[in-house]
Amino acid sequence: MDFSLLVETFQQMGQTSSRIALTDYLVALFAKTPHDLIDKVTYLIQGKLYPDYEGIELGLADKMVMRAIASSSGKSLTEVERLYQKTGDLGDTAGEAMRSKGQSSLYPEPMTVERVYSTFDKVARTSGAGSQEQKLKLVSSLLNDATSEESRYIIKFVMGQLRLGIADYTVLDALALAFTGDKSNRKVLENAYNVSSDLGTAARLLAANGLESVRSMQVTLFKPLRPMLAERVITAEEALERMEGRAGVEFKLDGERVQIHKGRQGVELFSRRLERITGHYPDLVDSVRMIKSDVILEGEVVAVNAQTGEYLPFQELMHRRRKHGVEEAMENYPVVINLFDILYLDGQSKMHLTYLERRKLLKKVVDSAKNKEKVRLIEQTIAEKPEEIERFMTVAIEEGCEGVMIKQLSSVYRAGAREYAWVKLKREYRSDLADTIDLVIIGALHGRGRRTGKYGALLLAAYDPKSDMFQSATKVGTGFTDEHLEQFYNNLEKHVIPHRHARVETGMEMDVWFEPAVVIEVIASEITLSPSHPAAKNSVREGFGLALRFPKFTGKVRDDKNAEDATASEELVSMYRKQLKVAGKSEDAGN
Ligand code: AMP
Repeated sequence: MDFSLLVETFQQMGQTSSRIALTDYLVALFAKTPHDLIDKVTYLIQGKLYPDYEGIELGLADKMVMRAIASSSGKSLTEVERLYQKTGDLGDTAGEAMRSKGQSSLYPEPMTVERVYSTFDKVARTSGAGSQEQKLKLVSSLLNDATSEESRYIIKFVMGQLRLGIADYTVLDALALAFTGDKSNRKVLENAYNVSSDLGTAARLLAANGLESVRSMQVTLFKPLRPMLAERVITAEEALERMEGRAGVEFKLDGERVQIHKGRQGVELFSRRLERITGHYPDLVDSVRMIKSDVILEGEVVAVNAQTGEYLPFQELMHRRRKHGVEEAMENYPVVINLFDILYLDGQSKMHLTYLERRKLLKKVVDSAKNKEKVRLIEQTIAEKPEEIERFMTVAIEEGCEGVMIKQLSSVYRAGAREYAWVKLKREYRSDLADTIDLVIIGALHGRGRRTGKYGALLLAAYDPKSDMFQSATKVGTGFTDEHLEQFYNNLEKHVIPHRHARVETGMEMDVWFEPAVVIEVIASEITLSPSHPAAKNSVREGFGLALRFPKFTGKVRDDKNAEDATASEELVSMYRKQLKVAGKSEDAGN
């Protein structure tokens, strides 16, 4: 398959500001892709070579890439550096440098997707002494035979900056349309994706063997599954109404969610975003190794005070997110795991069991680890009355929790789903919004005065899964320290795009636009009807969306969340309604 086909699609996708066109371009691309290449093309358009959990990276330093560009374009390193300063992007630098290149290789090898993929693969697998030189040679071998546009995308890919800005769901839609002609079959693919986190394999099975083979994909040890998520409720009454009157109530600890895979081969830990984080917690690996069976478990890992054993806030756990000095961090910031689910046991999926059945199994497994200090079953009770939940919640908060998770007793484990089978109830709800909201940064205004040269305000969006759009909900300019401002300016630079992103909806004019990627936590005084912000538009009143009033950055960048994990527009509607209820107003009164 010609690599140019892929490049043309990437170019078209980069230029459109229509969400639907993104899917159409992908459908056309899949239709032209040979079946045995579908998995590779699927990974490539996601900007990767393998599913994320494989943790395979190309690992090339900027300097090396600049040298590769210089050697293939015949320019000096200084000229390339100058171009890089001008464009601010290594892919664009490669494109420019190669445009003015003279004759290409004398006998160029054809640029096929197969060749590009396998060269990338070799780059990723080269390690050890002299590997940077080796990688450089491999990248140059591609650039030597590539056109300037091809070079642009090769380098963007190599640098992990392909950024087509498409959600997994868009790829799923496109696959369903391309191979079954029916978008509703996305559900089957989505399910396979949810239990395997491997879109490439699902895509290849679909193309080669049809929908039935995708339907039979099962949870497997060492392939993380996408976590089940919780909706938000504002009162204990509402939680119980959603739960058939009786529910499991658990501590909602403020740590890091970990998916544990333990088999005969060893232990692997995955983050909520399904990255391999085994290296962060060698102590946890040791503790769960004691478990007798092969299992997939979920729990919240929390830092504890080494002296008192008390839970510590999330910020303390961040000291454990490091590649170096792990041993020292382990001593200073010991952790415990609080398990709350079991998904697989000795060769069999347990996802179809009810919450109560899974909890019983989980208890047996935790007992078998014989390490109550470090491997715990999360605190839980069964509640039938709102007062019982409230009482348990006071205990939870006293122990340092954010609140409680309330879970439907009869519910199976639904990978990747955000439903009311699990709900979160955070601290007491007051008329001002005590609850935090996680929003995606989609645009910015240049700063003035003390903020000159940085961003003065950020435009934030909620996510609407139904339309797969990021809808603006507020502009935030307070809560930032000088250090934050500096960090935001630097970290957002790689997400800058020349126009409003195709998946962004807003009535606001901004100086700078970003691809939706970075999620931050804010608090606000209230939610109001808004004519200019489209979040949840028409849900409360025709022609109006919802906006946050007096928003403030809490200081927390939610780098454990993807853009699509941001607070959903629907959640804002329920928060708006609750706020009216608390304030004793009717909806028509508006505000
Ligand atoms: P949030 O990040 O506010 O959407 O809340 C969901 C997160 O709460 C999960 O991803 C877990 O990291 C965390 N959590 C803490 N305790 C529990 C629990 N008992 N059950 C499920 N998730 C929990």
